[in-house]
Amino acid sequence: MGKDLSELTEIAKNFIDERDWRQFQTAKELAIGVSVEANELLELFQWNDGKELDKMLMSGDDQELSRKIKNETADVLFACLAMADHLNFDLEQAFTDKLKALGDRYKKEDVKGKVVKIPEYK
Ligand SMILES: [Mg+2]
Repeated sequence: MGKDLSELTEIAKNFIDERDWRQFQTAKELAIGVSVEANELLELFQWNDGKELDKMLMSGDDQELSRKIKNETADVLFACLAMADHLNFDLEQAFTDKLKALGDRYKKEDVKGKVVKIPEYK
């Protein structure tokens, strides 16, 4: 059984405190961290065909790229957990609230199987 987000937030908090890194953290620095890590993930895909990469990744033909993707995705999560800890909010609840809002905005009966641009969808 995996850990829930509050347990992961506690692990991130302890990791930060054990290294005395809280002194360097502001919400701004953590937001930059989320973006930087997301872009490190994105960089792994740059100049490659998305469908070809998916084929390689799904078939297990590129273990090194898979490892890098997992690593950068974990970095993004760590940055998000650090933000939740810093601002003392429940990331699990924030995620649940966000998904509810998205579900209300993009009703499945209206958008199922469609790519919808926000200005075109009310
Ligand atoms: Mg990284």
